[in-house]
Amino acid sequence: MTARLAELTTLRVGGPAERLVVAETAEQLVETVLEAERSGEPWLVLGGGSNVLVGDDGVEGVVVRVVTRGIERLPDAPGSPRPVRLRVQAGEPWDALVAHTVENGWSGIEALSGIPGSTGAAPIQNIGAYGQEIAESLVSVEVLDVDSGERRTMPAPELALGYRTSAIKQGWRAVVLSVDLALERVEGALGRPVAYAQLADALGVDVGQRAPLAGVRAAVLALRAGKGMVLDEADRQSVSAGSFFTNPLVSARFALRLPADAPRWPQQSEPPALAVPVGHEPAAPPAMVEGTVKLSAAWLIEHAGIARGFALPGSGASVSSKHTLALTNASGRATAAEIAELARYIQTRVLSEFGVVLHPEPVFVGIVL
Ligand SMILES: Cc1cc2nc3c(=O)[nH]c(=O)nc-3n(C[C@H](O)[C@H](O)[C@H](O)COP(=O)(O)OP(=O)(O)OC[C@H]3O[C@@H](n4cnc5c(N)ncnc54)[C@H](O)[C@@H]3O)c2cc1C
Repeated sequence: MTARLAELTTLRVGGPAERLVVAETAEQLVETVLEAERSGEPWLVLGGGSNVLVGDDGVEGVVVRVVTRGIERLPDAPGSPRPVRLRVQAGEPWDALVAHTVENGWSGIEALSGIPGSTGAAPIQNIGAYGQEIAESLVSVEVLDVDSGERRTMPAPELALGYRTSAIKQGWRAVVLSVDLALERVEGALGRPVAYAQLADALGVDVGQRAPLAGVRAAVLALRAGKGMVLDEADRQSVSAGSFFTNPLVSARFALRLPADAPRWPQQSEPPALAVPVGHEPAAPPAMVEGTVKLSAAWLIEHAGIARGFALPGSGASVSSKHTLALTNASGRATAAEIAELARYIQTRVLSEFGVVLHPEPVFVGIVL
């Protein structure tokens, strides 16, 4: 089977896949990757294609699209604050899983409503939004460790999860087969305390207060839709890979040199990720040490003179007209090269204005920035 990656990615760019395999079972997924390894064929695992920028020349080797399904209720963990345990197959659509947990009165991932893509990809960049990250609810993942060829269970603390990163995103060659989550069973359908000011405002509660689970999901979906951050055929601004840049982490000393009105969020110190899979040395995610400050990439871009809707002359790629951080193919005629060119232009403007390097969030395949 062949396909153009433009049909399999939410940015709707990317050349052909030499070979496409749709994996409907974990066994098929494992076998396809191991067979490719044995024969020296390059391989790429793809879920919903919502966090990749694939080059216009396409992908050599085999693209394995994961469509495995299943949400299994494991025995409860009595005495745990998060007693509800779920095992979710990698190809299960993430947002359908969130909807399922909200319907059942289980709290922990409701603020992650509306994030596109697959459940197996969620730990790859430790998805996060509106004050929640999957790291808070993740117990473990079952992976295929590609180098050893073995399937094994990796406890979450060993995945080096950080701000939009993990050991896998940093280069550990592993394929996620399933994800185990621990969720709170909530009283009166009130979810976990709301941890994000904009969401709290929308719900009419204070940060730290609880709000009904279904209300949180509805509010998050509405906030996201206003920013073009929910995939929607009718909204051209959602033809994107979500936020294209992560919020930069800089030292507190450096942050002092920025204009007074630049938003900044001091980070709590966090011990560095200690466990690294045997035989691998994933580059460490940006260390969260005392004195680290997170900046707003959107503010930096806007104040470097790049407005919403901006496009380079003649280019099909543009900054979303609803959200400065999203680069879009709203025109429907952008190439991957044009998306990358716009990203480089933004990086250069922010670097020369503020001395800050913006790092892309999506994974680049067959194209460099
Ligand atoms: C409109 C929009 C809004 C978004 N909002 C957010 C947001 O709020 N927060 C956020 O964190 N992200 C957001 N994203 C990014 C994206 O949705 C998430 O990163 C999502 O988890 C990607 O899932 P996917 O299945 O589409 O991954 P893909 O794009 O298919 O893959 C991404 C990477 O993960 C790898 N991968 C995929 N599946 C597996 C697997 N089973 N095992 C090993 N590796 C795998 C791929 O090889 C690739 O390197 C948004 C994207 C869009 C388009």
